[in-house]
Amino acid sequence: MSKLLIDGEWVDALEGDTIDVIDPCSGQVFEKIARGRAADVDLAVAAARRALDGPWGRMTATERGRIMQRLGQLILEHGEELAQLEARDTGKPMSVARADAKAVARYFEFYGGAADKVHGQTIPYLNGYNVSVVRIPHGVTAHIIPWNYPAQMMGRTLAPALAMGNAAVVKPSEDACLSALKLAELAMLAGLPPGALNIVTGYGTEAGAALTAHPGINFATFTGSPEVGVQVQQSTARHHVPCVLELGGKSPQIVFDDADLAKAAPIIVRALVQNAGQTCSAGSRLLVQEGIYDRFVATIAASFEALKVGAPEMDLDCGPLINARHHQRVNAFIADAVAMGVPKLAEGSLAPGISGEGFFVKPVLFGPVPRNHRLACQEVFGPVLSVMPFKDEDDAVQLANATEYGLVAGVWTENGSRQARMAQRIASGQVFINCYGAGGGVELPFGGVKKSGYGREKGLLALEEMSTTKTIVQHYE
Ligand code: NAD
Repeated sequence: MSKLLIDGEWVDALEGDTIDVIDPCSGQVFEKIARGRAADVDLAVAAARRALDGPWGRMTATERGRIMQRLGQLILEHGEELAQLEARDTGKPMSVARADAKAVARYFEFYGGAADKVHGQTIPYLNGYNVSVVRIPHGVTAHIIPWNYPAQMMGRTLAPALAMGNAAVVKPSEDACLSALKLAELAMLAGLPPGALNIVTGYGTEAGAALTAHPGINFATFTGSPEVGVQVQQSTARHHVPCVLELGGKSPQIVFDDADLAKAAPIIVRALVQNAGQTCSAGSRLLVQEGIYDRFVATIAASFEALKVGAPEMDLDCGPLINARHHQRVNAFIADAVAMGVPKLAEGSLAPGISGEGFFVKPVLFGPVPRNHRLACQEVFGPVLSVMPFKDEDDAVQLANATEYGLVAGVWTENGSRQARMAQRIASGQVFINCYGAGGGVELPFGGVKKSGYGREKGLLALEEMSTTKTIVQHYE
């Protein structure tokens, strides 16, 4: 059974309870995690505060960066172990889990290297004054992590927070937290002082809600559903605590009739089925210009028919969905679309021998999806691609921006002026042109507009989010 990490010690939850961890491939319990609650969160926040007042708070940026880069190296050395844990917990194919482990290492390398390169400003002011603006940590940062890329998401928010000298309390998802616990073990090995990183596993409604409502935190990052994002904002607002919210998406892939279709097709399919569609930035709407609609959709349909779903070690295109509740939800989306007469164009298949008790779903291609249907605007978070035709550039923009989300968009066209116009007119945090990066690229600032959330993670901008400034005005004679 796994424990909580508080003040550098692995401890049981105060009330001693546990939560069963379910293998999504079989529906069977394979591990237990500690069920942290409000009292455990109190201890973790207090430990983080002590760390800020102790060796961690006094450490130079260079020393912090060194520890983080050592952690990056340890993650690479333990990459296979991390990948195995991640695949067992989430059911994702082994090659995806291995790529995730490398990506986590990259977060600590990147932000470890950046830790001592964050400079302040000096400001010309009145005669006899020195004015400087310095970057300082928020203090205690709270991190609420989802289950879809547990290790990567932890690296994404934790690495910039530590680089800026914050002390963190992490609440991983109750559905997948084993890699977070392994990362914490490696962080201790890398030399992170006690209290700089604390992990409280538990349910969102207990440990998560207690953490975001805690008066001792100074900043919160939340990655998860828009519904819980609202609750997090309400909790943090009570203590005027700022937050970054990375929520859902319904990202469009927009294909014009002059696009390189052979190049676009495999990237578009992968951008949806990667992680069985459980990716916030999945390209889940395929918008195709009328003149090439039939031809291009036939190509995508053929690719969907060839998709295979199975267990991690089979290393196929998709694994199972995360849990029984989500499995039911995605199946309900599919059944509802079929019942309402939305044409099902193609579907993948389950590999022979996979357990009927697992949470597997065949990838499905629907189209043309009516513009007012929920498949056209709601996030399924499963391997379901909705195809819709569009007429011209104005129509494409209107359709692309017609959801409440705005996370990522893909534009496929060889026309340079149109590329520039589309990039400007689409309302989203990222636009990819003739390529697509669902989640990749630690260097690239990432985050949404509208219901996809606010604030930016990744890239150097994350260092600004994870810190605040102090303006120092010195008068001299
Ligand atoms: P979720 O909102 O159910 O849970 C996310 C985390 O929040 C979990 O750790 C959970 O325990 C915790 N939580 C639940 N209730 C809470 C509460 N009241 N207070 C505090 N914490 C609470 O989301 P999920 O099902 O794990 O993830 C799927 C959603 O996340 C999708 O909508 C997806 O698009 C989104 N997502 C967004 C990004 C992004 O970067 N934009 C990345 C991954 C996932």
